[in-house]
Amino acid sequence: MSKETLGFQAEVKQLLQLMIHSLYSNKEIFLRELVSNASDACDKLRFEAINNDSLYGNDAELKIRVSFDKDAKTITIADNGIGMSREEVIKNIGTIARSGTKEFFSQLSGDAQKDAHLIGQFGVGFYSAFIIADKVTLTTRRAGETGATQWVSAGDGEFTLEDVAKESRGTEIVLHLKEGEEEFLSDWKLRSIIRKYSDHITLPILMPAQAGYNEDGSIKPAEGEETVNQANALWTRSKSEITDEQYTEFYKHVAHDYEAPLAWSHAKVEGRQEYTELLYVPQRAPFDLYDRERRHGVKLYVRRVFIMEDSEKLLPQYLRFIRGVIDSSDLPLNVSREILQHSKDIEQIKSGCVKKVLGMLEGLANSEEAADQEKYATFWREFGKVLKEGVGEDFANKERIAGLCRFASTHNDSAEQTVSLKDYLGRMKEGQEQIYFITADSYAAAKNSPHLEVFRKKGIEVLLLSDRVDEWAFSGLTEFEGKKLQSVAKGELDLEQFTDEEEKKQQEAAATELKDVLEQMKSVLGESVKDIRVTHRLTDSPACLVVENNDMSANLERLLKSAGQ
Ligand code: ADP
Ligand code: MG
Repeated sequence: MSKETLGFQAEVKQLLQLMIHSLYSNKEIFLRELVSNASDACDKLRFEAINNDSLYGNDAELKIRVSFDKDAKTITIADNGIGMSREEVIKNIGTIARSGTKEFFSQLSGDAQKDAHLIGQFGVGFYSAFIIADKVTLTTRRAGETGATQWVSAGDGEFTLEDVAKESRGTEIVLHLKEGEEEFLSDWKLRSIIRKYSDHITLPILMPAQAGYNEDGSIKPAEGEETVNQANALWTRSKSEITDEQYTEFYKHVAHDYEAPLAWSHAKVEGRQEYTELLYVPQRAPFDLYDRERRHGVKLYVRRVFIMEDSEKLLPQYLRFIRGVIDSSDLPLNVSREILQHSKDIEQIKSGCVKKVLGMLEGLANSEEAADQEKYATFWREFGKVLKEGVGEDFANKERIAGLCRFASTHNDSAEQTVSLKDYLGRMKEGQEQIYFITADSYAAAKNSPHLEVFRKKGIEVLLLSDRVDEWAFSGLTEFEGKKLQSVAKGELDLEQFTDEEEKKQQEAAATELKDVLEQMKSVLGESVKDIRVTHRLTDSPACLVVENNDMSANLERLLKSAGQ
């Protein structure tokens, strides 16, 4: 096909403007983004080549090249990775072919820093080229194909596509710099940006050698190329050799995030399965946390070869916000998604990683340091609802996860979830055997429930559960540290031990007095109720509905009804 001119999707246009504005104060990240894409493209080639060696042709050493031309005012970033077909160029570079686009735009705040974070997780790094360039030329040839495609755009709403010749596989991107951006036409500047942001990239990033002096003082001519980065997998280095900055930059690359992570866990695990894990907790929930077509997850490597990125098989659903890498020493290189599904080895790695993540969260939650507690509060605000799914989902770890949960409670008059089950246990009344909770549609509904009256009166704390997931999650948790969890809206409440003699007398008198009334009510209501009891649950409200211990709660019944069950 010859040359054609296509328009960007409307959202892309909007995004380009936004990108340029919100990232202008941090222009140099364009290089990080383009190098990151080049590295991803090489990872993809390696993975496809596992089953098709011929894709390498005679060019098996994957690398990234960065160079500049002072006279032409251009910077070039080239890789010999997977490349793109014409269709792929249109799909990947011309449109944002993802669900949630609208939602993304609705979340933009105008606050440059917040928006930059959204831009990052949306995966639009490529467009950062337009922060410093007024024209970008991308020439690409897909591995295994002979023809190549050239994409050219000034970032103003249109791009052209043309069939061209390209000698070898991969992608070459030429940035034609805007007036005033000449500072980037410098060997020193580009090298320092690469070292700062891309040191962890596992492939060599090459730049033309500069003339200078060798260590022995002899003159080194400007010949050939030099590797600028360390080019070894960050997670294979020992912890003591990695700075926090390096951990952070690596996170931004694997997680496609612009913000620093909240915490990480890095360990080499030996035993039946040998693997290295480097797992991060992000600082903010991605906008697609509840989207079934989530793009990012944890990356699986086998002996430093990228295999796949997956958000389901490597960690359970309730930890789907975790990012990072797992590098196995034992799995075969040709492992497929299907194999992973049923692999015992993966199960072991998965359960090991779950323990690491829970341990890392406990580390923050139980820390004496104010900074860590602050981090845990942030974590809970962003991901608490998702973690709670684990109480219902992960039988083996449910008590541990419950220990990490935070609740609103009658103890403190706030919708904010800050009370742990441990806090609750510490405040239990003498003789109290159960952990009381109530579930409702909202915090206000829970807080104002008539079921709480008697507890308020007796000074017994009740946890107020009002997230959608609570009903389901906590129906499976019957005990915590030997104490039963009891819904205050279910069955008989055994508050006997908190009743004083005077109250007891009153209650007995009431029971005799009401005996006849009860009999009468039962005969009138008949089959429509299971039982009618005299109760001391209520002190101010006239009546309330109670379900049997094993029955669905009224709240769950309402939820299921609204879901059409
Ligand atoms: P992300 O990297 O988060 O997917 P980008 O905007 O950085 O988002 O890139 C968009 C897409 O363009 C990539 O997912 C990839 O499919 C394609 N792409 C970008 N750069 C390259 C490259 N050098 N080689 C092959 N494909 C690329
Ligand atoms: Mg990218």
